[in-house]
Amino acid sequence: MAKRDYYEVLGVPKNASEADLKKAFRGLARQYHPDANKDDPNAAEKFKEVNEAYQVLSDADRRAKYDQFGHAAEQMGGAGGGNPFGGAGNMGDFGDIFDMFFGGQMGRRQQRGPTRGDDLQYEMDLTLEEAAFGIKKEIRIPRTEDCQTCKGSGAKPGTSPVTCSKCKGTGQIQMAQNTIFGRFVNVATCDRCGGDGKIVESPCVSCRGKGIVQKMHNVEVNIPGGVETGSRLRMSGYGERGDRGGPPGDLYIVMRVRPDSRFQREGDDLISEVTISMIQAALGVEVEVPTLEGPEKVTIPEGTQHGDTIRLKGKGVKHLRGGGRGDQHVVVKVFVPTKLQPKERELLQELAELRGEKTGGGEKQHKGLFDKVKDAINNL
Ligand SMILES: [Zn+2]
Ligand SMILES: [Zn+2]
Repeated sequence: MAKRDYYEVLGVPKNASEADLKKAFRGLARQYHPDANKDDPNAAEKFKEVNEAYQVLSDADRRAKYDQFGHAAEQMGGAGGGNPFGGAGNMGDFGDIFDMFFGGQMGRRQQRGPTRGDDLQYEMDLTLEEAAFGIKKEIRIPRTEDCQTCKGSGAKPGTSPVTCSKCKGTGQIQMAQNTIFGRFVNVATCDRCGGDGKIVESPCVSCRGKGIVQKMHNVEVNIPGGVETGSRLRMSGYGERGDRGGPPGDLYIVMRVRPDSRFQREGDDLISEVTISMIQAALGVEVEVPTLEGPEKVTIPEGTQHGDTIRLKGKGVKHLRGGGRGDQHVVVKVFVPTKLQPKERELLQELAELRGEKTGGGEKQHKGLFDKVKDAINNL
């Protein structure tokens, strides 16, 4: 049978607008919809014909080719992509109509192909030293595995899953829906078997029928020096396994560096404090300060002022990128002695006289509470 001209099928002129085409098509689709013409064996055929004509003419590109080459254009390979409903019998012809009228939201078969596994996240506590220099650590990660007892089937050994009676093993159920265009059939994942097409009647005891179990895995993690709280390390492929042959997810190690009372961290630099007496500040002194590599002797030069900083080059945190390390800054705090022995007072007074410095007038510790209150009132 010769193929009818598409314009003829839709009953529109060659110069019909898009709106005209759509209008004609809707009318005919309603008229010939097979569900509305159960007694007419030719309706399905007509419906198909109308649909095909509209498919071509509603696509500007295909319409242009058709206008030039006629039906030969379609045979030359201009007939668009494959049918997403292949294998679903009659559904194939109606799938495209769903797309046109309902924006492709309805009637799509749910793809149950390979899925990538979930990503996992692990929070790792680190000391400042570990974060500064890097460290190798073994961690334990719970990961899903096929159950060994049932080999992943979920069925008790000796039994096997049975075909789902609701979807007859297809994993999908068709739901009819009445619209102004007739009765449409929507395909959804079977709610009884969850789309697997199989149901486990005697579940495996080890995995309670799930076919999978959680198992602890040891993973060696190589933390580079220079990480800080919030740094994330991605271990590709160390996450949950994929489903149906999909690739595994990734494992993310999120760092949390514990606070260290000895150091304050500023990027890759460290700040620490050392307290010396006013006499040590004046005369200079060698003190021991904590560093990431243990106590270290540091010379504080004479005449150092409160708040002065001594820089220990390269004693900070490793740079995460590139070589080298930050510095450590030792902030010097000068402590003034408060309880002087008589002899100490004598010596300091002698020193003051020698330097021509005026002292006295504030012998604090000899004053009683009453005097202090009096002073405070006088100073108002
Ligand atoms: Zn099992
Ligand atoms: Zn089912």
